[in-house]
Amino acid sequence: MRPFHAAVLVLAAAFASLPSCTTTAPTPQPLTYAIAIHGGAGTLSKNTPPERRKEYEDALAAALKYGRDRLALGDSALDVCESVVRILEDDPRFNAGKGAVYNEQGQHELDASIMDGSTLRCGAVAGVRTVRHPVSLARLVMEKTRHVLLAGDGAEKFADNHNIERVPNDWFDTDQRRKQLDEALQERAKKGLAAADAPADRRLDYGTVGCVALDAQGRLVAATSTGGMTAKRWGRIGDAPVIGAGNYADRFVAVSCTGTGEQFLRHVAAKSISARIEHGRATLAEAVEALVDRTLEPGDGGVIAVDRFGNLVARFNSEGMYRGLADATGRFEVAIF
Ligand code: ASP
Repeated sequence: MRPFHAAVLVLAAAFASLPSCTTTAPTPQPLTYAIAIHGGAGTLSKNTPPERRKEYEDALAAALKYGRDRLALGDSALDVCESVVRILEDDPRFNAGKGAVYNEQGQHELDASIMDGSTLRCGAVAGVRTVRHPVSLARLVMEKTRHVLLAGDGAEKFADNHNIERVPNDWFDTDQRRKQLDEALQERAKKGLAAADAPADRRLDYGTVGCVALDAQGRLVAATSTGGMTAKRWGRIGDAPVIGAGNYADRFVAVSCTGTGEQFLRHVAAKSISARIEHGRATLAEAVEALVDRTLEPGDGGVIAVDRFGNLVARFNSEGMYRGLADATGRFEVAIF
């Protein structure tokens, strides 16, 4: 046998002994995704009847399930976070969009932001008065401008140029929030508190909605939207639209905060969690604990966060925080206290 023919035979024998790889389908890899939502640190009291608590839990579960299912289908964290926050903005139980708290003049001024951790692109709006879904206007700021944050009249004008739903300011009204404003103003009149002082019952003070997600492509996104704090001064802007304070995402983590905005601003709260992970080699749980338990004051509020491995954390130092956590392993939890 010539050497060439011998080589051909050897090769043929080798290929024949190989397992066939053309007919075997690749083993499907489970999608890795994770999502957390919050409906704010200003919650019902622990004495609230169970039926009323259940209403809130059901609303949280529906929004969480919607987001979880879309991630499971492979949707982007950006689309999912925006959509979930829109659902919560439309829910009058939570302090964002419909059901937003009133400022001291009886008006609603809304703040929101969104950040894509895979690109560090972000957008935010502050003090908007006629935009039904401020989170979507924040996304437009991110995608259609070279800026990050638009406020007040400029943000409204920007909304005029885009196809974004507008509503009169009183569309955001609810009786529950009006009652909270009246109580806050009465308390202020009685005690002579300055507008900056917190009311005795801090649960009335705040509320916000947020969503953080890791999608199957490994992108981390955070979105946050709020009416701010009850009886706030006209023009007051909280932490929610300030990137790094109330909302932040990068390649390590996505964070959304809720609580006394001024405290989250002072401590650049959301970014501090990323910094502890990146520079301090903290785990997500350690980084969140350092902020919530050792940096903020008791009663200030809490955060939800997800890291690049899909770890989820929700932690607060207020009486409660409306929250929900779900991931690709089947975890699905909703809680208030
Ligand atoms: N952080 C929000 C703000 O200060 C309020 C809240 O989350 O409760 O505007």
